[in-house]
Amino acid sequence: MQKRKVFKTYHQHQISILPPSLEELILPNHPVFTVNEVIDKIDLKKLEQQYIGGGASSYHPRMLLKVLVFGYLSNIYSSRKMEAALKENIHFMWLSGMSRPDHHTINRFRSDRLKDTLREIFTQVVELLVESGHISLKEVYIDGTKIEANANRYTFVWGNAIKTSRTKMQSQLKELWEYAEKVAHIEKDDTTPDDFNPTDPDKVKATIEKINNAVKDKPEASKKVKQKLNYAKNHWPGAVAKYNQQEEILKGRNSYSKTDKDATFMKMKEDHMKNGQLKPGYNLQISTENQFITNYTLHQNPTDTKTLMPHLEQHHQLYKKLPEVAIADAGYGSEQNYEYLDLNKITSYVKYSNFDREQRKSKNQSKPFAVEKLHYKKQENQYICPMGQTMIHIGTSIQKSEAGYPRTIDKYQAKNCFNCPLRSGCHKQKGNRIIEVSHRGNELKEQSKHNLQSEQGIYYRKKRCIEPEPVFANIKHNKNYKRFLLRGIDKVSIETGLLAIAHNLAKKAA
Ligand code: SF4
Repeated sequence: MQKRKVFKTYHQHQISILPPSLEELILPNHPVFTVNEVIDKIDLKKLEQQYIGGGASSYHPRMLLKVLVFGYLSNIYSSRKMEAALKENIHFMWLSGMSRPDHHTINRFRSDRLKDTLREIFTQVVELLVESGHISLKEVYIDGTKIEANANRYTFVWGNAIKTSRTKMQSQLKELWEYAEKVAHIEKDDTTPDDFNPTDPDKVKATIEKINNAVKDKPEASKKVKQKLNYAKNHWPGAVAKYNQQEEILKGRNSYSKTDKDATFMKMKEDHMKNGQLKPGYNLQISTENQFITNYTLHQNPTDTKTLMPHLEQHHQLYKKLPEVAIADAGYGSEQNYEYLDLNKITSYVKYSNFDREQRKSKNQSKPFAVEKLHYKKQENQYICPMGQTMIHIGTSIQKSEAGYPRTIDKYQAKNCFNCPLRSGCHKQKGNRIIEVSHRGNELKEQSKHNLQSEQGIYYRKKRCIEPEPVFANIKHNKNYKRFLLRGIDKVSIETGLLAIAHNLAKKAA
């Protein structure tokens, strides 16, 4: 016997006498309520000052901010998709109070109005998290990741290529001058330029012209040289001007992308082709506490070491105080950083490059001749080498790091390495072994080591693995944010701020 089919009632066009409000249709505890509640508490005076007034009315900045933050929280980053969501997504419709700004308005608000105000808004969100007891701002777990820029991977400018081209041009210019001197006998008053370094397009032009004038009527001058001079006259002054312009954009970096001049070519973690290809991107540094983002900075150089100080300075600027404790991996463990932490009374739980190796005993024993294994006699200011010889102090020098930090380096030399049976394992220097030591660096490293090995240090080291790393994983994999949408460091910084606020609010709502 066939069973009776029962369907639930379906009256698509039935009209309610009292239609439900949008709010009633949203699930309780939905993160949209957290976004609404927190953004309602933010003081937007500075943002409102961005509006000059007069003319047609503007959409309310608070509403646009809520829409953008909720967009970033729901993995909707494109202004066109937000425009669509404002017409069909009940959460966006409720947040906007049924207002429907178009994508131009949303984009202009994001790129222009938030430019100088978003960081302050982010700070207020973090301060609300402090008030609610979610974080204390006393501890910061710092880490970085590279995020690809919205730029073409193949439109690069390399600083080294510019230097090579200039050097090549310099030597060719010198050769041409010498040729002209020899073949065409440049007049006595045509003094040789002191420097052929092609940095001034006008000077390059004048030098080429002088050589050209000297050789153009000389039948003995080679046709090839005349052709080269012609080429130089037409191309070199322009090329020099272009190099100058490019170096101005580089500002000490080694590369940039022509489609986003602020982006630098860096090695990314996401290397699907497994060929180590450098891609244009930014080095994003964050501080976290209980997996909330408490600070973010964007850097144009790929090295983490150089980012710690500006990152903490930014923390100071935002909250008018520095954290009490900093926890970071070995990528940040430089003498300059340790010194900065020490001077600012921030307890360092920052690893140095071989900290982990030292902890693993088997690996630690693998380098018995390393400088740090040698015994130092402080009073005599001498080292004892593995053979038991004293290594005497032979001098002190100041070495400036790439970032300009002056390190005091002391040098010690062994008395006689000749015929030493340990020599092959000990060193490969020609004479007696010389070692270079920074005592201040060692002292700061020891301090950090002591902190890292303490009970509190072990707790921080364990916790570090579940602090910034999962936050990056959430942003890159759950939120699928692996490439910036906008171009230029200012706009990319706005995107990062929105991501950080969205991340914090999603975490608060969870
Ligand atoms: S090679 Fe020189 S420094 Fe090394 S153990 Fe022998 S004597 Fe000492």
